[in-house]
Amino acid sequence: MIYKVRGGGVKRIITIIIIFSLCIFFGISYGNSGNTEVNVAQVDKPAESQQAAQGGNDTTDQDYAADKKDKKEEIDLNLKPNEAGRIMILMYHNIGDEEREWVRTPANFLKDLKVLYEKGYRPVSLTDYVRGNISTEQGMTPVVITFDDGNLNNFEYLENSQTRKDSAIGLLMDFNEKHKDFPLEATFFVYGEHPFWQDSLIEAKLNFIIENGMDIGNHTKDHNSFKKADREEIQKQIGEEAQYLISIINRDDYTVNTLALPFGERPEGELLIKYLASGSYNGVLYENISVLNGGWNPAYSPYDKRFDSVSIPRIRASEMNVDNVGMYNYIDYFDKHPEERFISDGVAEIVTIPADKGESVHLDEAKELYLY
Ligand SMILES: [Zn+2]
Repeated sequence: MIYKVRGGGVKRIITIIIIFSLCIFFGISYGNSGNTEVNVAQVDKPAESQQAAQGGNDTTDQDYAADKKDKKEEIDLNLKPNEAGRIMILMYHNIGDEEREWVRTPANFLKDLKVLYEKGYRPVSLTDYVRGNISTEQGMTPVVITFDDGNLNNFEYLENSQTRKDSAIGLLMDFNEKHKDFPLEATFFVYGEHPFWQDSLIEAKLNFIIENGMDIGNHTKDHNSFKKADREEIQKQIGEEAQYLISIINRDDYTVNTLALPFGERPEGELLIKYLASGSYNGVLYENISVLNGGWNPAYSPYDKRFDSVSIPRIRASEMNVDNVGMYNYIDYFDKHPEERFISDGVAEIVTIPADKGESVHLDEAKELYLY
């Protein structure tokens, strides 16, 4: 199922929102440099307190500090790391023979992967992005690839039990085979009880995806909009699907804890939002570490104060009817504004940021801030 086609009036409103968002974005990026010193001191504190918390054993402290120092020396500042920059979360639906608004042909999907690869984007898992566990090769920009709806053209087994080569999985795996430095990371958001539409192969497919380092996400039981849903309905739709998927996957080391909202539509009323992140159905709890919207802008860095794990925007990976806010619009945008792009330092524990962009950062205690 796909998003509703927007009318002209809605388009205009969206355009206004985009312009407004960009104004805020640039205002915050460029307007607050006077505050940098004060705020840098604030965000520096967690790293200090973590080193102190290691305490009790001098050797451990020294080792820890030495280890961090070594890792810092590995960071090449000439690559202009900027881990406060923006990250694109790409949203795909179908791979098919005819290019349409919600269908990418195999050739065009391959083109997307090639362009991303050549322009220095590297896939990262949604979970690693949300948890700020980003060890993308230094100098490269993480990108998150998502597919919604669990269509057959995402993953099909042929009669000889081979994966169909021009399905999303087939194309991703082949590209990764030829470009080992382009990690095999993608999240497939599925709904209902027929993910990928070959019912005798559901268990095999879900486990294949996980065993190959990709992910399964929750796209609700019935794929209904949450716009008018109440508390019970939201919990049923998320909880029932999570329980179904977990029972099929049946692994102790894996849980389904990411949610993509059907049609990108959020419930009305702030009181209901918390049930997107956690709740229960039939006495069983569920938890989502990230909730994905539709959307039209790149997401905040997970180290940005404004990052909100239960409201993450995605960008349409299409070239049709994208209202100038599609994947290629933002690739062009980042070509022209490389300073707005997240550029990895290659070290997950250290968050490297140009000094003039430090003001919007918030780090948890496990991370060390490196301003330059
Ligand atoms: Zn959907």
